[in-house]
Amino acid sequence: MEEAYREPTPPQRAMLVAAHPDDIEFVMAGTAAKWRQAGTEVRYVLVSSGGAGSRDPSMTRAKLAGIREAEQRAAARVAGVEDVVFLGYPDGEIELTLALRRDLVREIRRFKPDVVMCFDPTRLFSGDRYINHPDHRAVGPATLAAVAPGAVLPNIFAELGDEGLEPHAVKEVYVATGEETNTWIDISGTIDLKVEALRQHTSQFPDGWDPGEMLHEWAAESGKEAGMPYSESYRRFVLVREEEE
Ligand SMILES: [Zn+2]
Repeated sequence: MEEAYREPTPPQRAMLVAAHPDDIEFVMAGTAAKWRQAGTEVRYVLVSSGGAGSRDPSMTRAKLAGIREAEQRAAARVAGVEDVVFLGYPDGEIELTLALRRDLVREIRRFKPDVVMCFDPTRLFSGDRYINHPDHRAVGPATLAAVAPGAVLPNIFAELGDEGLEPHAVKEVYVATGEETNTWIDISGTIDLKVEALRQHTSQFPDGWDPGEMLHEWAAESGKEAGMPYSESYRRFVLVREEEE
């Protein structure tokens, strides 16, 4: 890299939004754990409870959702996060709707995060092995639209004002797993917590596969670009600069 890269300092409050239990653990939990250790208040918002994440025809949505909410809370706890919100949308059938955007605006106005993290909504394919989940592709843009203008302007979802929720300007957005990466968080100190967090999602690894090696490979690959042993990388948008406050 031509100029020395400086990692952003941990924010006061960060809200991580994902479609399913385990999404955060695959992609962003190393950052969450690192920021928690630095004192950041972190909230996870899960749009679904993962009720469709099984090939077992005898498994019901309601039963699996209960199992996966417990796994998600356990995974969050490994990263030091106690604050987990489930919005209850149907796994596998999430659409980009105004209702979803409103629910995310509500969470932003409630929690008042400085940073919101979400998945890249533009990603349809990844390499030649993965076609992105439609739920991820709905939750990404809903989150970005909720950040701005949804959470900022009082006349958008004005009914939230009746709930006593004031507009809130998120300062920065971190978009994960996309192109045009510009921010690397060194997770060398929390990669083991990230692996341990993902391991909590045992319903997703029915054949006993362990995700440790893969997460280490991903983080090492990401870290190469920034000269870090292990990193998580993002495209970071600074919407409100400190001097503008
Ligand atoms: Zn997912």
